[in-house]
Amino acid sequence: MPRQYPLEKVRNIGIIAHIDAGKTTVSERVLFYTGISYKIGEVHEGTTVMDWMEQERERGITITSAATTTFWIPSYRHADKNFQYQMNLIDTPGHIDFTVEVKRSLRVLDGAVVVFDGVAGVEPQSETNWHYADEYGVPRVCFINKLDRMGANFEKSLQSIHDRLTLNAIPIQIPIGSESDFSGIVDILEEKAFEFHGEHGEKIQEIPIPENLKNEVKKRRHDAVEKIVENDDELMALYLEGKEIPIADLKRTLRKATIQNKLVPVLCGSALKNKGVQFALDAVVDYLPSPLDLPPIKGIDLKTGADITRRVSDDESFTALAFKVAADPYVGTLTYFRNYAGVLKRGSYVLNSIKNQQERVGRIVRLHANQREEVEEVYAGEIAAIVGLKNTTTGDTICNPDMPIVLERIDFPEPVIAVRIEPKTKADQEKMGEALHRLTEEDPTFRASGDLETGETIIAGMGELHLEIIVDRMKREFGVEATVGRPQVAYKETILGESKAEGKYIRQSGGRGQYGHVKLSVKPMERGKGFVFVNAIRGGDIPREYIPAVEKGIEESLSRGIIASYPVIDVEVTLYDGSYHEVDSSEAAFKIAGSMAFQEAARNAKPVILEPIMRVQVIAPQEFLGEVTGDLNSRRGRIEAMSDRANIKVIDANVPLSEMFGYATQLRSMTQGRGSSTMEFDHREVVPKNIEQLIIEGKKK
Ligand code: GDP
Repeated sequence: MPRQYPLEKVRNIGIIAHIDAGKTTVSERVLFYTGISYKIGEVHEGTTVMDWMEQERERGITITSAATTTFWIPSYRHADKNFQYQMNLIDTPGHIDFTVEVKRSLRVLDGAVVVFDGVAGVEPQSETNWHYADEYGVPRVCFINKLDRMGANFEKSLQSIHDRLTLNAIPIQIPIGSESDFSGIVDILEEKAFEFHGEHGEKIQEIPIPENLKNEVKKRRHDAVEKIVENDDELMALYLEGKEIPIADLKRTLRKATIQNKLVPVLCGSALKNKGVQFALDAVVDYLPSPLDLPPIKGIDLKTGADITRRVSDDESFTALAFKVAADPYVGTLTYFRNYAGVLKRGSYVLNSIKNQQERVGRIVRLHANQREEVEEVYAGEIAAIVGLKNTTTGDTICNPDMPIVLERIDFPEPVIAVRIEPKTKADQEKMGEALHRLTEEDPTFRASGDLETGETIIAGMGELHLEIIVDRMKREFGVEATVGRPQVAYKETILGESKAEGKYIRQSGGRGQYGHVKLSVKPMERGKGFVFVNAIRGGDIPREYIPAVEKGIEESLSRGIIASYPVIDVEVTLYDGSYHEVDSSEAAFKIAGSMAFQEAARNAKPVILEPIMRVQVIAPQEFLGEVTGDLNSRRGRIEAMSDRANIKVIDANVPLSEMFGYATQLRSMTQGRGSSTMEFDHREVVPKNIEQLIIEGKKK
């Protein structure tokens, strides 16, 4: 089958929101309206649209799949009203403990609809997610939701976007009426007003612009046009001559500026009251990029080691990023992938270029709101899932085996918090292994390991809630009951200085002996760089076959730590000299020599302990400011910024994770229940000496 959706009619988008802003409701409405359009022209077994929605309700459609494919025909007033668009909705989770998930979805989506609560305006998490979207250069439109709610205020919400996110947000719609009188929307560029009728707001009706809004519409249009024409010299010239600029030109230019992240169109509505969501979908078509609007994807050619790019085109070699692995109760493992170039066909082989393994693509599915569709092929720019891949994990590149490429990996931070878990019964113990295996496969920020000394299992993740959810999933999805210990900080170790050392493992007394001898140097690397091994052996001082054993020995040594048995990160180790023995040398001997040399070098290279530092945002009424900041200081916190929101203070601070256990409860009692906080991992820092001592002693106990 040839491609059905030309690239310019594909949109890969995410809906981003602070918890409770209405992401679920907006998503449901999107699925509902796109569901209607999907049904248009189809005989839907005699069921009405209404029945369909009811069924969906029963089955509880929230978008549980990592990517849901929908089809949207723009609303009747749109120039493209006869075309169908393929819209892939990529799920972006809400909670702050899952910023990693947000980041990885930002990596594969092309544009986002950011949903705000029209009463609260910009909230802390919208701010965090906004900054991530900036980091990934994701073009956005804003949707100010809940305008029907008591206390809703479009103007104030817009102001909070201007104050806290960007001055380049321009309203292209305004609401008619507010709170319970919110009845419709004026399109600023077109100067037309609309109401939404019918049980689900599916009937859009044009009405005259209400008298009391006419001036505001004129002014807003003037402001919007002024901002838009700044992005196009020709339009600017027309504008300066005082000429009327055709709407199509304004929209085209706004589209260009939005895609370049220079402007952000602002829309409004109420998802709950079925107002405005169709226009938001139109805006996705109008202003958010298609895969064609994005630069070619960059990667490294595995044959030559050169940096290369691949265009978004069906003619290129297949190149995709696996962005989520999920267990589906019906079909097994689903590997969601974003196809950046080429066509993936069912039955073909792909190379996982990170793991250097080929896998057969047995089945491919596309996930819709209400069904799973088997497909024969997936075209460039599209998103789908492969069923049953065995060795592919999140962040891996999959590609045409003949043209191997590695795309930039998604960086996942190391876990910051760990707990011991113990299966309740023998039966639980057996199932727990399988459960942990599956969960670690799905979630790259989750780790499970056995404690060699005690035989206990330790799980580690990005926050207390993250681990709670994992434990809960073990119970619900795998039937494993476990008791959970107290959360501990996942410290790491590193070195601050450089050093050299020699490792000799030589046993030569009768019979076959042992002979391993290496010289190596260590030096610190930037945070987040992990471990790099450099082989600088010239000639045959150490035969090639023993070099991997040396590296292995060092790696094992890294995991054992230097001063307090925490894993060592961010070091570069260079193997530069050594010797061997014709008969006595072995891999085992070189492994031990490597490990010994590393331990000694690291001990002399200023080893330190690193602790996770969290970015904490506290919101509290003004009168508690002194107490809240005093408390943060006593937790070794550094206040980074303080700002006002009405008579509420917003405090941003960096605080070591070890000082934050139980903070939420403490904050509540300190502020008579009126303060709240969010927290997420920011970076790692060297632990102060006095605390290092406590950690080392605690570990010995
Ligand atoms: P999420 O946490 O962002 O997914 O938010 P939900 O969609 O679950 O919405 C949170 C709450 O706000 C729910 O009780 C919704 O019914 C309500 N809600 C969502 N959209 C609107 C809206 O447009 N108007 C009003 N009044 N309530 C809304």
